[in-house]
Amino acid sequence: MVKLGEKPFYKYCPFCASPLVVEERGGRLRPVCKACGFVQYLNPTVGVAVIVLDGDRILLGKRAREPGKGRWCIPCGHVEWGEDVRDAAVREFEEETGLKVELEAVFDVLSNFHNPEHLTVGVWFMGRVVGGKLSAGDDLSDVGFFSVFGPEVELAFPTDEMVIGKLRKLFKKRF
Ligand SMILES: [Zn+2]
Repeated sequence: MVKLGEKPFYKYCPFCASPLVVEERGGRLRPVCKACGFVQYLNPTVGVAVIVLDGDRILLGKRAREPGKGRWCIPCGHVEWGEDVRDAAVREFEEETGLKVELEAVFDVLSNFHNPEHLTVGVWFMGRVVGGKLSAGDDLSDVGFFSVFGPEVELAFPTDEMVIGKLRKLFKKRF
């Protein structure tokens, strides 16, 4: 039997606790429960981030936890099951920065592969602050505005680097 990597594949069925076997389903090897028919389909979850700008500066948060503890990111979080993607972005941003935002256009959509145990698809929205008071909360220990022409701080995620690089190009065109 071909072995799948240890994490994040289940060894036992989460529904009936029978040992899972690896079989091809839909062109890929997946853990399958012979007792109840459960198949573990691994799909990326959806991450949301909000870009708030002040001139050529972007609001970043210092991460209080892993992954990327002590480094900085565009304030972000995960869409909960049953939650609208835009509601999630507004909620996560307020939890992390204290600021209420209205979302504008989607700035970028990228696959995140930096954590092999937890793959995500990230959606970066542009946001406009409509209320609240800036203060770090939830997963962040500090918040602040930094020039997109940095680097003033070390970023936690390669895709945030890509997004800030794209912003930098747009600013260069504009000025
Ligand atoms: Zn089962």
